[in-house]
Amino acid sequence: MKRVLGYRCTICGKEFPFEPERYTCPHCGEKGILDIVYDYGEVKKVLTRETLVQNRDNSMWRYRALMPVADTTDVSRFLRIGWSPLYESKKLRDELGLKALYIKDDGINPTASLKDRASGVAVAKAIELGYDTISCSSTGNAASSCAGSAARMGLKAVIFVPKRAPQGKVAQLMIFGARLVVVDGDYEQTFELSRAAIDKYGWYNRNAGINPVMSEGKKTVAMEIAEQLHFNVTDWVACSVGDGCTIGGVYTGFKDLYELGIIDRIPRILGVQSTGCCPFVNADKVPGHELVPTPEETLADSISVGVPRNPKKAQRAVYASDGRWIAVSDEDILSAMCLLGRNEGVFSEPAGVTATAGVKAAIAQGIIKSNETVTVISTGSGLKDTANALRAAGKPYICAPSLDALEKSGILK
Ligand SMILES: *Cc1c(COP(=O)(O)O)cnc(C)c1O
Repeated sequence: MKRVLGYRCTICGKEFPFEPERYTCPHCGEKGILDIVYDYGEVKKVLTRETLVQNRDNSMWRYRALMPVADTTDVSRFLRIGWSPLYESKKLRDELGLKALYIKDDGINPTASLKDRASGVAVAKAIELGYDTISCSSTGNAASSCAGSAARMGLKAVIFVPKRAPQGKVAQLMIFGARLVVVDGDYEQTFELSRAAIDKYGWYNRNAGINPVMSEGKKTVAMEIAEQLHFNVTDWVACSVGDGCTIGGVYTGFKDLYELGIIDRIPRILGVQSTGCCPFVNADKVPGHELVPTPEETLADSISVGVPRNPKKAQRAVYASDGRWIAVSDEDILSAMCLLGRNEGVFSEPAGVTATAGVKAAIAQGIIKSNETVTVISTGSGLKDTANALRAAGKPYICAPSLDALEKSGILK
């Protein structure tokens, strides 16, 4: 950890030393979400373009020099998180009318979402600090990733999800043996209950908005994108946004590489929400960009977050990168599921394709130009939520077992 200098508050900018059990700024309180500050001079000694090209660790831990994990922690026993594929798209690129399009498929992570990146770091920290229990509240994916990594590494997991969480995610939680609290309330109420319980019982807190080590795991997705593009990043990177921790991490990942001289620019970041729940898009339209609590009315459950827990990092990602906020309807999200599946063979959950829907809308609105290059992040697998997948694609026709019936069915047309 000698490369970690300390914390910097995202509100007051004050810096103070690293204490592993600190989650927020002592001066700004709850809203004072923290950045972790690295000694880039030290990092440069071990992490350069050359060392990356030679690094054969095909997991997110290839970037551990830029992660707040003790050098003594053995990560080889963890689930294999990260180094997900970056696909070059030809069909969807042409259909959308772009110069180049890449799809980062984070649905292939061990519990099938990008959240594994944060949960891996959280579980490492909990073990380093001697906890036997880790806890979080989540719309579903943070929960299942936390429970999966905890199961693998022998930690207990106490998980809070709102009762609307899709069955696929609940099934994962049951299989991973989490102590599962399905809360009869919305995500906001779920979060509050988890907070009170974590305070009372003293478990390790994996809540992504609050714990600053979470975005340090999520930022590895941006680092992989940069490496997979041979350090020539695209003009834009598009990401769906709920609490704001993921998009915040995406910016931090590119920023770290920029500060180290590994990339020479930071992509413009497109933050995408559903019109059914888009507090960031609403805030973008008012002076001061103040967020207002919003009802949670989108089928993209992973980004149905009315009170985002990490607003500062999310807004910084978009504004500091000269990016844009955009909202798309739930119908656009459902049709993007088919667009991505049929053109590219990538099956993504609703929140997972929201970025793709956002790129399409941004092209239509002239925000992204046809001579530009784009990376979209698919943040979670479609198998998590088959009910909405079937809503998007329709139910199959049942065919009688004869060639005649097959011919008449029209399926082969
Ligand atoms: C959590 C999640 C997001 C959004 O991440 P936030 O950190 O909440 O903004 C997007 N897509 C999927 C599939 C997710 O699970």
